[in-house]
Amino acid sequence: MRFADIPGLDEIKGNLIKCVLSNKIPHAQLLQGHEGSGNLVLSLAYASYLNCLNRTKIDSCGECAACSKIDKLIHPDLHLVFPVSPNAKFTGKDVISANYLNEWRSFILKNPYQNLNDWNNYYGADNKQGNISKEESRQIIKNLSLMAFEGQFKVMLIWLPEWMHPSAANSILKILEEPPDRTLFLMVSHQADNLLPTILSRVQSIHIRPFSDQEVEQYLVKQIQVDETRVGQIIQLAQGNMREAIKLIGSLENDNQDMFQDWMRICYTLDLTKMVGWSDQYQKMGKVAQKSFLQYAMNMMRETLIAKVGAHEIARIQESEVEFLTKFESVMDPNKVDKLTAALNQAIYHLERNANPKIVFLDLSLVIAKTLKA
Ligand SMILES: [Zn+2]
Repeated sequence: MRFADIPGLDEIKGNLIKCVLSNKIPHAQLLQGHEGSGNLVLSLAYASYLNCLNRTKIDSCGECAACSKIDKLIHPDLHLVFPVSPNAKFTGKDVISANYLNEWRSFILKNPYQNLNDWNNYYGADNKQGNISKEESRQIIKNLSLMAFEGQFKVMLIWLPEWMHPSAANSILKILEEPPDRTLFLMVSHQADNLLPTILSRVQSIHIRPFSDQEVEQYLVKQIQVDETRVGQIIQLAQGNMREAIKLIGSLENDNQDMFQDWMRICYTLDLTKMVGWSDQYQKMGKVAQKSFLQYAMNMMRETLIAKVGAHEIARIQESEVEFLTKFESVMDPNKVDKLTAALNQAIYHLERNANPKIVFLDLSLVIAKTLKA
């Protein structure tokens, strides 16, 4: 993870970089921010920066051996601790992070903006609340006391220290206050209010603000390649919470998918009562969602044409769309696709110029019904 992989938050990145360049690296830092904030990714980028073999004044290189190991979360000097609870595989003293590390790695590499619930679901916590146990604190002390270093700094990254058992928290107080040379703690908390005062007093706190809408947009468009037409709706709903934004990508996609398929069926059966009902519903969706839905319909026209001519290698459909598309394609031809694409385009044009959405949608439904039946 490089700082450049994280959208915005320039002021915080700048401060972290300054610590390293001026050689004033705090031995224990707490990056606190709500779930969906950038605190974990910043910690990982910071760990890379600390150990990078070719760092510049603004970022790690992302390519050296240290960077690539931290990227995969397998650097031997990056120690990872997080809440765990017994599951089908581990109980008792085996309930420590090291035994769940492979799962945690793939969980975080898939999406580093997730929360504790996501994690519990991911590894199949047995309905018991996980924690960072007393046994875990012994491992922390043991791992940090081992002298072996591969990189320049040993980093103990504790994800969600608010779930540390009080006895575990008490046992690490001494090492937290005076860690061995070139060893530092990075705590990444979603609920720092729940941390014990004895921990809080031993760490330097950094508040991570939520992402701005522009930062969320930047991430969705550049890193995840979300269709720009859907980004507006997502950032409006996510309110700076990146976890929420990433979740919304999937659910909006599904909403549009279900809605589109229902809509085409209604048009095909020429059910006027339902068409009018749908126009009312459409009116209530809000401008961004209305546009996003029509944009989805446009994409489906493209896919229909691709299916029609058998150019499957350039298709961009999801598995859940295949069945519908096969049927839909059988009642379509290139001429009809052209007509509907033009009608959808025109509807978007009118919406952008503040036409009444209900009327636009009803008109559109009638054009579609007529075209499908032709
Ligand atoms: Zn590097």
